[in-house]
This record gives sequence, structure tokens and C-alpha cells, in this order.
Amino acid sequence: MVCTPEGPRQADVHVTDGVIAAVEPSIAAPRTRSIDAQGMYVLPGGVDVHVHSRDPGFPEKEDFDSLTAAAAAGGITVVLDMPNTVPAVDSAGVLEAKAALARSKAHVDFGLWGLIRSSTTPEQLEGMAAAGAVGFKAYLAYSFSLSRKQVLYSPDTDDLDLEPPADYGTLARLAPEVARLGLPLAIHAEDPTVLAAFRRPVLTYGDLLESRPPEAEAVAVSAAAAVAKESGINLHVAHLSSALGLHAAEDAMRAGASISLETCPQFLLLTDQDFDRVGPAMKMLPPIRTATDRAALVDGLRRGVISIVSTDHAPHTDEEKARSLDEAPAGSPGVQTLYLSCLQLAKDMGDVWLATRWVSSAPAAFAGLQESKGAIAPGYDADIVIVDPRARTRVAAQRMRSRQRHGVMEGMEFDFAIKDVFLRGESVAQGGRVHGRMVRPALVPT
Ligand SMILES: [Zn+2]
Repeated sequence: MVCTPEGPRQADVHVTDGVIAAVEPSIAAPRTRSIDAQGMYVLPGGVDVHVHSRDPGFPEKEDFDSLTAAAAAGGITVVLDMPNTVPAVDSAGVLEAKAALARSKAHVDFGLWGLIRSSTTPEQLEGMAAAGAVGFKAYLAYSFSLSRKQVLYSPDTDDLDLEPPADYGTLARLAPEVARLGLPLAIHAEDPTVLAAFRRPVLTYGDLLESRPPEAEAVAVSAAAAVAKESGINLHVAHLSSALGLHAAEDAMRAGASISLETCPQFLLLTDQDFDRVGPAMKMLPPIRTATDRAALVDGLRRGVISIVSTDHAPHTDEEKARSLDEAPAGSPGVQTLYLSCLQLAKDMGDVWLATRWVSSAPAAFAGLQESKGAIAPGYDADIVIVDPRARTRVAAQRMRSRQRHGVMEGMEFDFAIKDVFLRGESVAQGGRVHGRMVRPALVPT
């Protein structure tokens, strides 16, 4: 069963030179090789718009080799890497150096986000766009270490080495240039003043939830939407985690703001009740919240208000994640289980093909790749995932390709198994060769 833009149907997919040449009921064209996918789902490769390669910067946590091996194994054929590597991607030069590094290691295609600092200039945005940035990301509660060239969680500080976080003023100042460039502006949506008001020692998971209340997300979404609205930019809310945040975004959309929403499998599948089972591996920011939040996010996805499921794949070492809740760093790997978890969610919602929208066509369009990625149709890259709907997968640490093997999805079971993954017609599921290319959004700056 081939998932085409017109819906699922029985078909042959003919690939020539890494590009889909035809999708027809039966193709008799001469071929050098054929793959029998009878009884399988044939799906477009996944596009994860939110990953953290840690490369360059923290090779003990992850690098482009391990990240993209995990992606390939999980049917994700494009990853968009966030800019908080070290040095942070805040200029065209840093972006180009990171692109060269990624090209030398990547098993799947990749795109790169650029960083918005409070000191970022319109010229720097223009430079990063020209170098191929897929969009810009502002971390509203994260300062910037001038000596380490690193984004650090630190909403308020007197340290002279720390440049204050980008704020709503930064967004307002840069929005006209972002609009002119036609790229999305993503925010880590936690308002620093709300976080400051709720700061406390984190000894229990309840403390963690109280220290990162949903009001922080809702306030950040509303304020960023207000400053973005007049300029007409596409505001992208990363890792939406709460009912309150979703409601704030929907209010702003109704008021005319252009907003895209992404949420993550961990917010759709887990709640605070899972902490006793999962432990500190579950720590991430924003946090996995309550059953009410989870239900609201699932409903937002069902209604199409949330269009993209990404992972916020953010590995650390297993040693770091084994620390206490207070000391363990925030984040979990996720890219390898994104497609399977979304197939499961979609199946449970009653329409398994929805998963390809959340994971492939919508994120591809978001990234400006709608002419080459995100569909099994003539002219598109032959990025194809073959899934067995009769086999099951249990998420097990020994099969994880990320450096951090014990992630938040460990032990989960899905009613599907990935049989093979193709990037431009080449099998990449088992890793090995370096095939990845940098993707650049198709843009027409005005
Ligand atoms: Zn992230």
C-alpha cells in the first residue's frame, strides 16, 4: 500500500537516479532492481524539524554520525538541526562551517536553523538565509555566553559574560527582516519572567512541573504572536507542551497571526504519571505535563491545529541522565522512534495515514521542501520508508543508534516495524555510507 498525496493505494513506485519517476498501478518499465513490498506500507521519508545534533560541541552526547544513523533507522530522511551547538549558529560563517561538518558525516539529509540572539542584526539574518538556513530560532529564557559562544539556560543574570536572552523586543526589531526573507521564526516558548516567579528547588517531578508552569508557555506564545502579527511572519512554536499554550496559540491564530505548531511524541504519549516508571530520563524542558495537557494536544493534532510532530531529539550521556532529577540535564533522544510512535498514535485515532502528514508532508512544506520531500509522487526525491503493519517493535536500548541509549520511549511497544529506509533510492536503514546532503528552503525573498 503506497501512501500517495491522493491517499493510499496499491501501486508500483518507479525510481530513477534517486528520484521518483512514476507511481502507477503496475509498471513494466525496464529496471535494474526491484523490491517486493507486498503487504507493507510504503511511506514518504520523515522530516524531523527539531533535533539537536550536539555537533560541534558535545560529541560524547551525539554527533551528526550517530544522530543521522538513528534517524535513518527510524525512517527519518531529513533532520533540521537546532542552532544551539557550540559555537552557536549565529552567522553565515558558523552555519557554513557546520554544514561542511555535517556533510562529512550525515547518513540522511539535513537542514540548519540559525540563532536569534538579543544582539542579532538584520544583516546577520540575511547572511544566514543566503547560507541556507531553514529558519531562525529564539530562546526566550536562554542567555548567550560570549566567551563560550554557547546558549545557556539562564533567564536573568548579572554575569557580564552572558548576553541577555532574546526577548519580545528582539523579535519585534527583527520581524520585518524575517518577513522579508520568508523564513519561519521559531521560539522556545517559555516566558522568563513567569519562570523566575516560579523558581524553586526541584526534588520531585511535581517540583519540576511547578517550576515550569504552562502559563510560561501561554504568555510566551501570546506575546510573540502579538509582536509577529503585524509583520506577517510565520511564528513557529517549538515543542508545544500544554493545553494553555495551545489555547493561546489558537486565540492568536483567530486574531490573524500566522502560527505553526509542533508538538512531540513524548507530550502525546506520556504524562507526569509516567515519572515513577521512567525516572529522570523523563526530564525535559518544557516538561511532560498532565493527562489534561496530553488530551488537549492529541485533540489539537486531530483537529489539524497542530500540524507537525517533531522530536526535540536532545541526547545527553546515559551517565548524565542517571543523575538526580535536579542535576540531570533536560532532554531525551527521540528521532529513531518518531515515525513508529506517530503511526501508533494515528492508528489509535482511526486513520493511520495521518502520521505521514504530521511527520512528512507538513514538516516538509514547513521547511520549504514541498517540491522535493514529503510525498511519494513523480519528481520527488525517492525518500521512502517501508513499514510492516503486522510486525511489532519494542523500543530497546540496544537497538538505539543515538549515543544516549536509554530514552524516554524505552520499553514502549508499537504495532509496526520499519523494514527498510531509502534516501534518494539508496538504502540507509543499516547506516554505513554517508549520503546526506544539505537541504535549503525554496524561497523567493521579496
Ligand atoms: Zn530543542
